[in-house]
Amino acid sequence: MTLDTLDRAACEAMDAADPLAPLRNRFDLPEGMIYLDGNSLGAMPKGAAARAHDVVTREWGTDLIKSWNSAGWFDLPVRLGDKLAPLLGAAPGEVVVCDSTSQNLFKVLSAAVALRPERRVLILEGSNFPTNNYIAQGVAAATGGRVEVRLCEKDEIADAIDEDTIAVAITHVHYKSGHVHDMAAITARAQAAGALAIWDLCHSAGAMPVDLGGCNADFAVGCTYKYLNGGPGSPAFLFAAQRHQGQALQPVTGWWGHAAPFAFEPGYRPQHDIRQFLIGTQPILSMALVEVGLDIHLAADMDAIRAKSMALTDLFIRLVETRCAGHGFKLASPRDAAARGSQVSFAHADGYPIMRALIAAGVIGDFRAPDTVRFGFTPLYVGFADVWDAVDRLVTIMDGDIWKLPEHQVRDAVT
Ligand SMILES: *Cc1c(COP(=O)(O)O)cnc(C)c1O
Repeated sequence: MTLDTLDRAACEAMDAADPLAPLRNRFDLPEGMIYLDGNSLGAMPKGAAARAHDVVTREWGTDLIKSWNSAGWFDLPVRLGDKLAPLLGAAPGEVVVCDSTSQNLFKVLSAAVALRPERRVLILEGSNFPTNNYIAQGVAAATGGRVEVRLCEKDEIADAIDEDTIAVAITHVHYKSGHVHDMAAITARAQAAGALAIWDLCHSAGAMPVDLGGCNADFAVGCTYKYLNGGPGSPAFLFAAQRHQGQALQPVTGWWGHAAPFAFEPGYRPQHDIRQFLIGTQPILSMALVEVGLDIHLAADMDAIRAKSMALTDLFIRLVETRCAGHGFKLASPRDAAARGSQVSFAHADGYPIMRALIAAGVIGDFRAPDTVRFGFTPLYVGFADVWDAVDRLVTIMDGDIWKLPEHQVRDAVT
């Protein structure tokens, strides 16, 4: 389609031809809002409130402690892990839903350190979402200086791997730029040097096909509250390849990871399966809602999700670059859709007030310091006409200098 014919009607026609469009109906979004922040907190599935009500009133209120068995609370981390596994290219028994991404990363990095006792270095991406690097630094500190963290940028990672590398722990899709790392190539490079490959899937799970098994990944972690729509603070997931299960202790040896949790033995004996990565009692209310989001994903085809995601982000880039030309936006994501996750970032010196003005106009994206405005596109509930309307509102804000108003200069705690 040429630019002359690209108008709102053309976008509506794309929506009409979109096989995923009916899934929009399974989400509740405020009227008039264009939600481009599903990469930070996914939208609420319509079934979430009813499910929460049922867990609170029936499972908890009426059945009380019996629900650990009768409602399957105790097995929920493993059952949801098995349900999530196909979206990650993992086998049954390789994924568990529990705790937070930060906590799960601590567990798998520590397991990796234990699996490579003769090696010293953990490699991470310096510009990654900082918690990953902070956690790795904590893991290293806990070894009393035996292990160190080396921070590299994307083009330096392959060369940094050597016979002293314990593991490479990279976020598959970069949180800020949206750059997609080559999971197969980095995993193969790490393993050729005898190192392990650990993947953070926070910005890929539910947004694009992931093939942990096909890439022979060792461990992975990720959250369920972004593209998987599990709800604020919903439990994360942890993948451990079958071959590593029962091979090394993760250090948070709580009773849910014990071989016989209800034997109440004085000494720790690990499970020899994925449950060795559990710690203790899980937030059942929050975890139950993960299933509502997962069920929508399982009704959709992941290749269709990826195809639509690439089309939405291509359209957004094209519209911003043409309709906001001269307003100082510089693309900060890969231009090639195949190298880009489901988000688009632009650098702009006045990114913060511009994003505030956009949010006030009902277009929800976010700002990442120092100068990045970031837009996530969840194909399950964002359409092509939404992209048109979002850019339309941006044009109004830029052409009318609306972002210069004093109320858009104030900083909130969470951006
Ligand atoms: C969102 C995100 C996290 C979140 O970690 P929490 O433990 O849930 O706070 C971690 N790492 C990356 C790369 C993320 O994108």
